[in-house]
Amino acid sequence: MTAGTTAATTAGTTRYTQLGEALGTDFFSVQDQFTAEQWERFIAVRRFVDDEVLPDIGGYWERAELPWHLFRRLPELGIVGEDIDGYGCAGMSPMACGLVHMELHRGDGSLGTFLGVHAGLAMQSIAMCGSDEQKQRWLPSMATMDRIGAFALTEPDHGSDSIALETTARRDGDHWVLDGVKRWIGNGTIADLVIVWARDTDSGEVFGFVVETPAEGYEATVIPGKVSLRSVWQADIRLTGVRVPEENRLVGARSFKDTGRVLANTRGICAWMALGHATAGYDAALRYAMERKQFGKPLASFQIVQQRLVHMLADLTGMQLYCMQIGRLADAGRLSPTVAGLAKMNNTRTARKILSEARDLLGGNGILLEHHVVRHWTDIEAIHTFEGTETMQTLIVGRDITGIGAFA
Ligand SMILES: Cc1cc2nc3c(=O)[nH]c(=O)nc-3n(C[C@H](O)[C@H](O)[C@H](O)COP(=O)(O)OP(=O)(O)OC[C@H]3O[C@@H](n4cnc5c(N)ncnc54)[C@H](O)[C@@H]3O)c2cc1C
Repeated sequence: MTAGTTAATTAGTTRYTQLGEALGTDFFSVQDQFTAEQWERFIAVRRFVDDEVLPDIGGYWERAELPWHLFRRLPELGIVGEDIDGYGCAGMSPMACGLVHMELHRGDGSLGTFLGVHAGLAMQSIAMCGSDEQKQRWLPSMATMDRIGAFALTEPDHGSDSIALETTARRDGDHWVLDGVKRWIGNGTIADLVIVWARDTDSGEVFGFVVETPAEGYEATVIPGKVSLRSVWQADIRLTGVRVPEENRLVGARSFKDTGRVLANTRGICAWMALGHATAGYDAALRYAMERKQFGKPLASFQIVQQRLVHMLADLTGMQLYCMQIGRLADAGRLSPTVAGLAKMNNTRTARKILSEARDLLGGNGILLEHHVVRHWTDIEAIHTFEGTETMQTLIVGRDITGIGAFA
């Protein structure tokens, strides 16, 4: 990239029109190791992000509006359904799944989170815990996004300790009756199929149920005032005597361990999401430092600025290597929940650092939505927290290396 080539000047203000677009940052040549399939998925989503997402996502974020036109493009790109084989699903390799989520988040966290909830959590719950008949019943229409999914685990009083969830499921003939409250449920107000995790009043075990909306007794309201991931909505859900037929109980979800299997699967993806946000921040900061002049010279010509950029690159390269290795392990079926947890912990923490630097390097422009960085800077906060906070991942890895559980 050449300094100054992308700035357009209008009415005395310099507009940094290409901030946000990919610079192709790959200092350690990790992309050389992509297979043709991985490369194809990665490039298709990268183009989609640069051409279609970046031009207008800021407005949707500001208005906290759902960008349906972008959501609808996901099945057209053939990336709905993660690594699930058959049923019209994407059937990507785990590494390609990671690359897709990375690129979506390089564009926008809300868009990536929408897909993460719909496919990574809801569809995967059905794929991992459903019978063949249940998969056949729901997955094809979810792959085309004719039906949208949600995953309802967290409760107002149980976040990190969701294992202690209090929502109940009482058997009543050939039905179950669900009662309880859920919080922070992505897509909860727009979903057609909501995977509700509830405790069987007889056995005390946690089961998974597919609630098809609208359903009597199912009430969802959008959580207002959110300053991260503004163009995807989370809901408070109240379940009051919601009747679910036995055929909608996920047959392979027999205890909280099965809920945990679904979550372990998406934990590694969160590391890729964080990499996407950090890449957006680094690319924007480098481009800006080359274009922006102060004291008669580009910012990039000052030693301290170069040092800050290099430190960001060093952190980013480390994140890329983490992701490549968890991708390889996942491809080989050897990614453990603990290793995925370490990657999530490292990458969300490092992404926060990089985005904070990037925001500052853009000066005042760093807090304007049109320059993208501040959107990523707020969005990474949600990813740092959801699907197991950075602290909980630390405690999980801590238990693994010491053999001592410090949180139960
Ligand atoms: C934007 C967003 C989207 C989400 N989407 C979904 C969704 O689709 N479905 C769903 O089911 N859930 C969803 N969640 C919920 C998410 O998984 C929880 O927010 C997360 O697990 C943390 O729970 P909490 O917010 O209740 O925080 P808490 O558990 O109350 O934690 C608060 C703080 O205490 C720390 N802490 C907790 N326990 C310990 C301990 N033992 N030792 C030390 N520190 C501790 C935590 O690390 C954190 O820093 C979403 C959350 C957000 C913010």
